[in-house]
Amino acid sequence: MNRREELEEHAREVGFDLVGVAPPTPPPAGPHFEAWLENGHHAGMGWLERNKERILDPRLTLPEAGSIIVLGLGHSRAPMELEGGGRVARYAAGRDYHNVMGRMLKKLARRLDTAGFAGPSRQIVDAGPLLERSHAAVAGLGFESKAANLLHPDFGPWFFLGELLIGEELEPTTAPAPGSCGTCTACLDACPTDALISPGVLDSARCISYQTIENRGPIPTELHESIGDWVFGCDICSEVCPWGRDAPDLSERFGLHDALKDRPLVSWLEDPIPFGERYQGSPLQRPKRAGLARNAAIVLGNRGGDEALGVLLRALSFDPDGLVRETAGHSLARSFGEDQATKQALEGAAEREDDERIAAELRAARARCDDVD
Ligand code: SF4
Ligand code: SF4
Repeated sequence: MNRREELEEHAREVGFDLVGVAPPTPPPAGPHFEAWLENGHHAGMGWLERNKERILDPRLTLPEAGSIIVLGLGHSRAPMELEGGGRVARYAAGRDYHNVMGRMLKKLARRLDTAGFAGPSRQIVDAGPLLERSHAAVAGLGFESKAANLLHPDFGPWFFLGELLIGEELEPTTAPAPGSCGTCTACLDACPTDALISPGVLDSARCISYQTIENRGPIPTELHESIGDWVFGCDICSEVCPWGRDAPDLSERFGLHDALKDRPLVSWLEDPIPFGERYQGSPLQRPKRAGLARNAAIVLGNRGGDEALGVLLRALSFDPDGLVRETAGHSLARSFGEDQATKQALEGAAEREDDERIAAELRAARARCDDVD
């Protein structure tokens, strides 16, 4: 058994589905990434700009790196719908993959160390200083798609990536994963916010995933309706992709987090359990309490109904976070703007509001009610 085969055996024994090796050199997609940054398509993700040099040169992360081992782990592709409506991106329905992958990478690093692979090593999961999709494509884990993701012939878009930089110089993968988007444009056509502005180019500021997960501030009101039912993330461009149709269903692998069991969305804004406790170990912690409640307020506005009206009116008046009060105000104006009670509630909330920016948003929401009439 050669070194590569030995590595592959260790990776599979640890539980990874896919493994490949790329050299620790600047990734082929570097120029594309730089142009993307220059065009501001990273929206509020300033850390990408700040870490640009490191992202473009793996040896700035680990000077002794001889190889990048890229690992893939399939996840659920079963739709995750809350009782009574509201959708969560499939990858986020269960345990936080950062923790799971992080543990698996550590375990693999220990095994390789024991087996005599040269160190040092460094584990990377998501948001790390690597252009991981580009290295993964070099390592044969898939091909970069028009949806700006990575597609694997067996898993389609439904898998996570993680990387292990190690000192040992392993023979890089030479066979790229077969496949391409060809003439398909299903994801570009299906994106509800036109966030895929050209093949392979994502404008994060228009992407529901970015807005509902990474953005900590108000979500632009012109996107609220297009967000539809998505309370965390968005799977639309993956759902329509023909490459994922025969992917294995691995919903059991990460399970379903308790925070998503028997909890209709109307209960999300008035949760008696502290946020950190409720979402412990779930990826839904990322936007924090205010961000998740903001998303819930948008989706409740999109769904409408008496229960949503009651919850939104209470959030407008009593929610401790201005971001949520503001978003509830916009949802009320959008969906219940013809009601006299909504107009009065918005006027009262604007008067009571200490934060002048939020008060101005609530006055704008009130003004929009007249357009609804
Ligand atoms: S995740 Fe949703 S909003 Fe973002 S590009 Fe895909 S379809 Fe569009
Ligand atoms: S939907 Fe079509 S164009 Fe989009 S990523 Fe999949 S194959 Fe490529």
